[in-house]
Amino acid sequence: MTPSGVWPLTSPRFPRPAASWLGLPLPAAFAQASRGSFDGIRNSTIRNDSIAHPDLQPHLCSLNRYSLEVSLTIKTPCPICGLNVPFKSTSSGKTLNCGRCGEYHVSEELLVISIPLELRPYLSAAARQGSDNSAPILLNQSNLEDIAANHRSVTTSRKVDKVLHYIAAKCRQPGVLTGIDFDLDYPAANCRDGAELLAYVEYLIERGLLKKSTAGNLSNVTMYSPTIAGWQAIEPSLPIGGEPDRCFVAMWFADEMDDVYELGFRPAIVECGFKVYRIKEDPTNKGIADKVLSEIRRARFVVCDFTGERTSVYYEAGFAHGLGREVIGCCREGAVSNLTFDTRHLGHVVWKDAADLRQKLADSIRANIIPKR
Ligand SMILES: [Zn+2]
Repeated sequence: MTPSGVWPLTSPRFPRPAASWLGLPLPAAFAQASRGSFDGIRNSTIRNDSIAHPDLQPHLCSLNRYSLEVSLTIKTPCPICGLNVPFKSTSSGKTLNCGRCGEYHVSEELLVISIPLELRPYLSAAARQGSDNSAPILLNQSNLEDIAANHRSVTTSRKVDKVLHYIAAKCRQPGVLTGIDFDLDYPAANCRDGAELLAYVEYLIERGLLKKSTAGNLSNVTMYSPTIAGWQAIEPSLPIGGEPDRCFVAMWFADEMDDVYELGFRPAIVECGFKVYRIKEDPTNKGIADKVLSEIRRARFVVCDFTGERTSVYYEAGFAHGLGREVIGCCREGAVSNLTFDTRHLGHVVWKDAADLRQKLADSIRANIIPKR
């Protein structure tokens, strides 16, 4: 039996899986459904172990016969946070749609091992933010540590920014309210739990950047909206931080790196909502040194790939760092041991190939650079 109805109707941001069996024991709920009273079953859930229940079989057949569009789905525990969530099977694993971690892909082996507890808050943040940016991540046994690493050192200031940006992104414009579910939404801003998210929300209210709706809120959802001051606070500040949507890539210009740029760096940056600039593509790059420095000044952040040990990349990283630009360091696996200068504090993205780079870099940008509105 495959899930029907719920997928993809359930939004990863606001999945409201049903609360319960609506007070009915399972067979009774199905009996009610098979008699044509579908409200009793809509949005209800079937646990995997319930499917085998012999009392259910005739009712399931009945449902099937009528080809009903009921929200009926088999669920599986989210391997990151444990919520029971709907899923789709794929050739290499499963795509899960978790109310907390959003939509993400997992390899089959991850569904049978237990993800280390210590990694889970970071993975939940990575998965949720990938989902919110329409770029679901793929988790497998070998990339868990790397993906978690991108989300380990998010500062308090950045989390506060993320909360405000998250709410603004959902509201889209001043005057619109959006709901926050503290039990489900905390990974969107790298919080460890709802209490941490609530602390940032209250801080933003104290600062006059956010307001809470005074109208009746649902039991698990509270409505918020940025104030005008809040909207102004997230407006980009050009003179200090460069152009808000611009990224400079410093890397080795060897031909062997062109595919890595086209299939890794460029798509990762673009999918996160930024324009990308690399000097090699610029036909106007006459006085290269001056052009490089002016482009770094224009950029919101800089991605420096140290593969190939180019001194120019070290120089550009240092220049960007001195300007206060955020720098994301990258290096091909196997080349890390050659680095002559320790750049690990830049939170290196260590990549195997262009596809691996694309995913890890996009995730690092979402973790470390203020998200797009
Ligand atoms: Zn989850």
